[in-house]
Amino acid sequence: MTDNPTQLLIGGELRDAQDGRTFPTYDPAHGGELAQVAQGGAADVDAAVSSAREALNGAWMKTSPAKRARALNRLAQLLDERTDELAELESRNVGKAKWQCAAEIKVAVATLELFAGTAQHLYGRSHVVNPAVVSYTLKEPVGVVGAIIPWNYPLMMAAWKVAPALAAANTIVLKPASATPLTALRLGELALEAGIPAGVLNVVPGPGAEVGEAIARHPGIDKVAFTGETGTGRRIAQVAAETLKRVSLELGGKSPNIVFADADLDAAVIGSLWAIYYAAGQSCEARSRILVQDEVYDTFASAFAERARSLKVGDPLEAETKVGSLISRDHAAKVRGFVELGLADGGELLAGDGLSLGDGLDADAFVAPTVIGGVTNDARICQEEVFGPVVTLTRFADEAEAVGFANDVRYGLAATVWTGDGGRGHRVAQRIRSGAVGINTPFIAFPGVPFGGFKESGYGREQSIEALDLYTEIKAVLQNTSPKPVNPLGV
Ligand code: NAD
Repeated sequence: MTDNPTQLLIGGELRDAQDGRTFPTYDPAHGGELAQVAQGGAADVDAAVSSAREALNGAWMKTSPAKRARALNRLAQLLDERTDELAELESRNVGKAKWQCAAEIKVAVATLELFAGTAQHLYGRSHVVNPAVVSYTLKEPVGVVGAIIPWNYPLMMAAWKVAPALAAANTIVLKPASATPLTALRLGELALEAGIPAGVLNVVPGPGAEVGEAIARHPGIDKVAFTGETGTGRRIAQVAAETLKRVSLELGGKSPNIVFADADLDAAVIGSLWAIYYAAGQSCEARSRILVQDEVYDTFASAFAERARSLKVGDPLEAETKVGSLISRDHAAKVRGFVELGLADGGELLAGDGLSLGDGLDADAFVAPTVIGGVTNDARICQEEVFGPVVTLTRFADEAEAVGFANDVRYGLAATVWTGDGGRGHRVAQRIRSGAVGINTPFIAFPGVPFGGFKESGYGREQSIEALDLYTEIKAVLQNTSPKPVNPLGV
């Protein structure tokens, strides 16, 4: 086995693309190419779907739930043992701090273990319909799953899809983002090493418009599990509708972070820094709108901006780095454009200028932790997903106004409420239209806790037992228990 595979993984074999194309993948923080990767196309998706179908009806169907569980646990163990090596590969390809990549690999490990534990518990239910009819249900795999994932948490997003899908006996064609194909290919190789049969997990990197669309369109794919931008999710849902595929969508966010005057302000400042600047703000659940009650606005704003300026921005491979590069120069330029827009809309730059980096880094791919104060919730920067280390501060007067601002966006993925009043925390949590709400904690994603969106943040829940519903079909089996034949026509 190679250390870092760069070919397509189809039917258990590493292969070149059928038309021989390759594309470069980069190290955005340091600049330069990391590898040339085989670029899949529609013909390769066809081959991957055939392999996945064959495995679904063959080796994987014959694998007992206990053996599926063992294989997933073994895969978890292999990832765990290789955390450092995988974190370095991921950090180089994403530009994210390596310690953060390592933490995400541990989440991938925990996710595989969580769903390994469910493989033997896919229970149906029995029901006596009437004295002559008894029924029971089976939970069967949906079939061949097309999983399309983004670049911001490459290995973790792959695990979020692969773990429940395989626990429920499906097979997969996985398409990583073009910017970050490497760890998904490595995951596919490790799955074979873990004893998961050839063809169960196929990995086909390539452009979204080609490989992604081919997956969404393919009649041999039964379900698409997608994570990415809301616009892409909308397109996938439209294309997948032609074959009435099952679709689950984990999409974008513009999540609020509400600081009430009665909150522990130190805790709110520290937690809110993590909630926006982790992964350089390139998180779907980034709390990118901080709403602060009038009475404490000035105190919070100056303490938060000071701490934002103190965060170490630099080489993602260094342990003390808190904020690495963005995924690319192009994306960093887009994020800077949003900052200009926020300032043009009346915002005040409280932090974010004067970035200084060490040697050997590509400054064009970095954006300093940025704070824009004094913007109103209807400004474009408060309504659109920036996907970078940029946060806005907006004042509110009372609880009703805070809830109104929190909900006044098209997204509904996450929220955090900082308050010293327990009743208020729960009251506000119930009124916010989002898939998760943290009270006095920035953490809203753990294996075992449902993760997913309301509104245009998508539909379906991952990371928890509910995810199995996305990967199973329910079949009802009915049995006549009467000694007489069933004769409804009385013939
Ligand atoms: P993206 O939508 O550009 O790409 C995601 C994936 O879709 C990639 O693999 C891409 O190649 C593919 N794709 C692109 N066009 C396609 C098409 N027409 N048909 C099929 N596939 C296509 O998203 P991104 O820039 O990689 O990731 C960032 C986005 O992902 C942000 O909006 C972020 O909020 C979101 N995200 C959401 C979650 C969540 O759980 N809700 C988690 C992480 C990221």
